[in-house]
Amino acid sequence: MDQAFQLAQEGLQAREVPVGCVMLYKNNVIASSRNTINETKNAVRHAEINCIDQVIDWCTENNEDKLKVFQLVEVFVTVEPCIMCCAALRSLSVSQVTFGCSNDRFGGCGTVLNVHNHSGFFDKELKVTSGVRKKEAIELLKNFYRGENPNAPFPKVKKAVS
Ligand SMILES: [Zn+2]
Repeated sequence: MDQAFQLAQEGLQAREVPVGCVMLYKNNVIASSRNTINETKNAVRHAEINCIDQVIDWCTENNEDKLKVFQLVEVFVTVEPCIMCCAALRSLSVSQVTFGCSNDRFGGCGTVLNVHNHSGFFDKELKVTSGVRKKEAIELLKNFYRGENPNAPFPKVKKAVS
Protein backbone atom coordinates (compact mmCIF):
# COMPACT_ATOMS: atom_id res chain seq x y z
CA MET A 1 0.00 0.00 0.00
CA ASP A 2 2.96 2.30 0.66
CA GLN A 3 4.04 1.99 -2.92
CA ALA A 4 0.51 2.66 -4.18
CA PHE A 5 0.43 5.89 -2.17
CA GLN A 6 3.84 6.93 -3.48
CA LEU A 7 2.54 6.47 -7.01
CA ALA A 8 -0.59 8.48 -6.23
CA GLN A 9 1.62 11.26 -4.88
CA GLU A 10 3.68 11.14 -8.05
CA GLY A 11 0.43 11.37 -10.03
CA LEU A 12 -0.56 14.48 -8.10
CA GLN A 13 2.74 16.12 -9.04
CA ALA A 14 2.15 15.17 -12.67
CA ARG A 15 -1.36 16.73 -12.46
CA GLU A 16 -3.12 13.43 -12.89
CA VAL A 17 -6.00 12.34 -10.68
CA PRO A 18 -3.88 10.90 -7.86
CA VAL A 19 -4.59 7.19 -7.88
CA GLY A 20 -1.82 4.64 -7.42
CA CYS A 21 -2.04 0.89 -7.90
CA VAL A 22 0.23 -2.06 -7.16
CA MET A 23 -0.29 -5.68 -8.12
CA LEU A 24 1.25 -8.44 -6.07
CA TYR A 25 1.84 -12.00 -7.19
CA LYS A 26 3.22 -14.48 -4.65
CA ASN A 27 4.30 -11.51 -2.54
CA ASN A 28 6.24 -9.89 -5.37
CA VAL A 29 5.27 -6.62 -6.96
CA ILE A 30 4.84 -7.42 -10.64
CA ALA A 31 3.03 -4.24 -11.63
CA SER A 32 2.81 -0.70 -10.28
CA SER A 33 1.34 2.36 -11.88
CA ARG A 34 -0.73 5.47 -11.51
CA ASN A 35 -3.30 7.21 -13.67
CA THR A 36 -1.79 8.45 -16.94
CA ILE A 37 -4.95 9.85 -18.49
CA ASN A 38 -3.73 13.39 -19.15
CA GLU A 39 -0.25 12.25 -20.09
CA THR A 40 -1.54 9.81 -22.70
CA LYS A 41 -4.77 11.70 -23.54
CA ASN A 42 -6.46 8.36 -23.14
CA ALA A 43 -9.42 8.20 -20.77
CA VAL A 44 -9.03 4.49 -20.05
CA ARG A 45 -5.44 4.75 -18.77
CA HIS A 46 -6.46 4.25 -15.16
CA ALA A 47 -3.79 2.98 -12.74
CA GLU A 48 -5.42 -0.46 -12.64
CA ILE A 49 -5.55 -0.81 -16.43
CA ASN A 50 -1.87 0.20 -16.68
CA CYS A 51 -1.06 -2.46 -14.07
CA ILE A 52 -3.07 -5.11 -15.93
CA ASP A 53 -0.94 -4.40 -19.02
CA GLN A 54 2.22 -4.72 -16.93
CA VAL A 55 1.09 -8.07 -15.52
CA ILE A 56 0.49 -9.33 -19.06
CA ASP A 57 3.98 -8.16 -20.08
CA TRP A 58 5.47 -9.76 -16.97
CA CYS A 59 3.77 -13.07 -17.85
CA THR A 60 5.13 -12.94 -21.38
CA GLU A 61 8.66 -12.18 -20.16
CA ASN A 62 8.55 -14.92 -17.52
CA ASN A 63 6.74 -17.48 -19.60
CA GLU A 64 3.83 -17.65 -17.15
CA ASP A 65 0.21 -18.42 -17.93
CA LYS A 66 -1.53 -15.09 -17.44
CA LEU A 67 -4.89 -16.63 -16.65
CA LYS A 68 -3.34 -18.53 -13.74
CA VAL A 69 -1.27 -15.57 -12.59
CA PHE A 70 -4.25 -13.18 -12.48
CA GLN A 71 -6.14 -15.60 -10.25
CA LEU A 72 -3.47 -15.12 -7.59
CA VAL A 73 -2.95 -11.41 -8.09
CA GLU A 74 -3.69 -9.13 -5.16
CA VAL A 75 -4.51 -5.54 -6.00
CA PHE A 76 -3.69 -2.54 -3.79
CA VAL A 77 -5.11 0.74 -4.98
CA THR A 78 -5.55 4.08 -3.22
CA VAL A 79 -9.09 4.69 -4.54
CA GLU A 80 -11.88 2.19 -5.13
CA PRO A 81 -11.67 0.84 -8.69
CA CYS A 82 -14.26 2.35 -11.01
CA ILE A 83 -16.88 0.18 -12.68
CA MET A 84 -14.70 -0.32 -15.77
CA CYS A 85 -11.63 -1.36 -13.77
CA CYS A 86 -13.57 -3.53 -11.35
CA ALA A 87 -15.19 -5.37 -14.26
CA ALA A 88 -11.77 -5.84 -15.87
CA LEU A 89 -10.33 -7.21 -12.62
CA ARG A 90 -13.31 -9.51 -12.23
CA SER A 91 -13.13 -10.86 -15.74
CA LEU A 92 -9.45 -11.66 -15.14
CA SER A 93 -10.47 -13.54 -11.94
CA VAL A 94 -8.27 -11.45 -9.69
CA SER A 95 -8.55 -12.77 -6.12
CA GLN A 96 -8.57 -9.65 -4.00
CA VAL A 97 -8.63 -5.90 -3.98
CA THR A 98 -7.64 -3.59 -1.14
CA PHE A 99 -8.43 0.08 -1.56
CA GLY A 100 -8.19 3.37 0.32
CA CYS A 101 -11.19 5.65 -0.11
CA SER A 102 -14.37 4.86 -1.96
CA ASN A 103 -15.20 6.28 -5.35
CA ASP A 104 -18.63 7.79 -4.79
CA ARG A 105 -19.37 8.50 -8.42
CA PHE A 106 -17.85 5.59 -10.29
CA GLY A 107 -17.04 2.94 -7.69
CA GLY A 108 -17.44 -0.59 -8.99
CA CYS A 109 -16.57 -2.40 -5.77
CA GLY A 110 -19.80 -1.66 -3.96
CA THR A 111 -20.25 2.12 -3.86
CA VAL A 112 -22.15 2.67 -7.11
CA LEU A 113 -22.35 -0.86 -8.45
CA ASN A 114 -21.53 -4.20 -6.89
CA VAL A 115 -19.46 -5.46 -9.80
CA HIS A 116 -17.33 -7.39 -7.29
CA ASN A 117 -20.09 -9.78 -6.31
CA HIS A 118 -22.40 -9.49 -9.25
CA SER A 119 -23.35 -13.08 -9.68
CA GLY A 120 -24.25 -14.41 -13.08
CA PHE A 121 -21.38 -12.79 -14.93
CA PHE A 122 -18.47 -14.11 -12.94
CA ASP A 123 -17.75 -17.46 -11.30
CA LYS A 124 -15.63 -16.36 -8.45
CA GLU A 125 -16.26 -13.71 -5.87
CA LEU A 126 -13.74 -10.92 -5.50
CA LYS A 127 -12.58 -10.31 -1.95
CA VAL A 128 -12.67 -6.60 -1.22
CA THR A 129 -11.10 -4.73 1.70
CA SER A 130 -11.92 -1.03 1.87
CA GLY A 131 -10.93 1.98 3.92
CA VAL A 132 -7.19 1.30 4.19
CA ARG A 133 -5.51 4.68 4.82
CA LYS A 134 -8.75 6.24 3.64
CA LYS A 135 -8.07 9.76 4.97
CA GLU A 136 -4.75 9.91 3.18
CA ALA A 137 -6.37 8.85 -0.10
CA ILE A 138 -9.11 11.49 0.28
CA GLU A 139 -6.53 14.14 1.12
CA LEU A 140 -4.66 13.40 -2.09
CA LEU A 141 -7.83 13.78 -4.15
CA LYS A 142 -8.72 17.00 -2.34
CA ASN A 143 -5.27 18.40 -3.04
CA PHE A 144 -5.73 17.57 -6.69
CA TYR A 145 -9.15 19.15 -7.03
CA ARG A 146 -8.08 22.22 -5.07
CA GLY A 147 -5.46 22.91 -7.72
CA GLU A 148 -6.56 24.29 -11.03
CA ASN A 149 -6.56 21.64 -13.67
CA PRO A 150 -8.52 22.27 -16.87
CA ASN A 151 -7.97 18.64 -17.86
CA ALA A 152 -9.55 17.23 -14.73
CA PRO A 153 -11.78 14.47 -16.05
CA PHE A 154 -14.06 14.10 -13.03
CA PRO A 155 -14.40 17.52 -11.47
CA LYS A 156 -17.48 16.53 -9.51
CA VAL A 157 -15.56 13.98 -7.45
CA LYS A 158 -14.71 16.94 -5.23
CA LYS A 159 -18.21 16.93 -3.88
CA ALA A 160 -18.14 13.20 -3.34
CA VAL A 161 -15.02 13.12 -1.23
CA SER A 162 -15.49 16.23 0.89
ZN1 LIG B 1 -10.86 2.73 -13.29
